[in-house]
Amino acid sequence: MDPLLARYRELRRRLPAGVDLLAVSKGRPAAMIRALHGEGQRTFGESRLQEAVAKQAELSDLPDLDWQFIGRLQANKVRPVLRAFAAVQSVDGLDLARRISRIAAEEGLQPVLHAQVKLRPDPAKGGFAPDVLRQHWDELRQLPAVRWQGLMAIPPLGLAGADLEAFFREAVSLADALGLEGRSLGMSGDWPLAVAAGSTLVRLGSTLFGPPSIDGARFAER
Ligand SMILES: *Cc1c(COP(=O)(O)O)cnc(C)c1O
Repeated sequence: MDPLLARYRELRRRLPAGVDLLAVSKGRPAAMIRALHGEGQRTFGESRLQEAVAKQAELSDLPDLDWQFIGRLQANKVRPVLRAFAAVQSVDGLDLARRISRIAAEEGLQPVLHAQVKLRPDPAKGGFAPDVLRQHWDELRQLPAVRWQGLMAIPPLGLAGADLEAFFREAVSLADALGLEGRSLGMSGDWPLAVAAGSTLVRLGSTLFGPPSIDGARFAER
């Protein structure tokens, strides 16, 4: 059997009921997305707008793909990203959230959002500080043109063992405190731990697809 399909079936078998799989297809060709669509996968994560739009054009005969934006979202890319993606997992600050709601209203859209939280200092990543998210949650949840689905968190590189478990547990309790059902936690290297801690959505790239084959620099933002 095709190794991609074998890996997909094995991951599906291992994921408990109630935990969804977001297939992180950034850096992978449209043909791989098509192959997984044939297995029933619908949710795909991309972090570069141009790369995603090119694949969407190639896959336009598949009407039911669920494209989720997982990359850092610059303010000037909000409108085209909302046109291309039904969901954004990487809403990392107040101004961005407000802007998404305003532009979604103008476009007649209602994107599904995850708030990205930064639970540890990490110069490489954005995200709401938990206190900021708690303080402003009443405003955020009432933004008119969005639907909040959950929290997304990415552990800093090198976090492991008990520290990593604590990280995931903190993310889950913050989601609980805010009344959010969705916990987008866990990537290729740590998803079993994230699932044990209460993740409802794992974002898997390399363990599913193997190493990326599309050079992201081709799609560098200009
Ligand atoms: C690339 C990426 C992933 C997938 O990472 P793997 O380690 O390859 O599974 C998950 N989440 C986000 C936000 C990413 O950018």
